[in-house]
Amino acid sequence: MKKILSVILVVTIFFSCKTEPVEEPLYDSTLVQVSVIDALLQGFYDGFFPIYKLKRYGDFGIGTFHGLDGEMMMFNDTIFQVLSSGEVKIPNDTIKTPFAAVSPMVSSKTISLSTFNFNQLKEEFDSLFPTRNIFYLVKIKGNFSHVRTRSVPAQQRPYLPLVEITANQPEFEFENVKGDIIGFYCPPYAQGINVTGLHLHFLTADRTGGGHLLEFELENGQIEIGNLLHYHLILPEQGDFLGGDFTLDRTDELEDVEK
Ligand SMILES: [Zn+2]
Repeated sequence: MKKILSVILVVTIFFSCKTEPVEEPLYDSTLVQVSVIDALLQGFYDGFFPIYKLKRYGDFGIGTFHGLDGEMMMFNDTIFQVLSSGEVKIPNDTIKTPFAAVSPMVSSKTISLSTFNFNQLKEEFDSLFPTRNIFYLVKIKGNFSHVRTRSVPAQQRPYLPLVEITANQPEFEFENVKGDIIGFYCPPYAQGINVTGLHLHFLTADRTGGGHLLEFELENGQIEIGNLLHYHLILPEQGDFLGGDFTLDRTDELEDVEK
């Protein structure tokens, strides 16, 4: 069945008005993103968008915090912060993010999985997902025999590029754990704007561990895939971003950062 898929790119400049602007309602299947990945790669870690505002756009998402202080997971409307110590906390709502992506928890397809790992998810992508050319929400819930994650330590100015920070990233291993993988798939044409392909974070079911996902071995569980057909981008009005160089191809840097 052919579907006409429309990806609407709406760029919203984030104004620091004294009165809150009236916000347009968004479609349910909208991926809402704060800043772009090439800004984070350049070391633009100053938060500019308060995390309580992310909750207006969805109950599911990933990102980071002001100064790159850990990995963010938004799950069932709660925002979790995995610090570089491995500790998980619920951050103050007024903390700002320099980069995040959220959406409502839409579910277009659920598939049961057993003995399944990250490489299989990448290799068998075309049998699980209808196309590589739209955005998806991805959630995998289940029992994992092994998970490896990382977080990043909070940074002070002058900020180093992301690739230099992740070279010394603290990593965490989990064995025989229940949990949730949370994240998004972005199509190839999103290069520079977001991580193309899969960008996933992990949170244990008891909410005591997690981070940016590097490896997983699922024993059994299920994957939920949500088709996201609309895109809403929120950019800063001031700060490093305005003087950034967005002409470079940072694909190789991003590949190093994601490992
Ligand atoms: Zn991440």
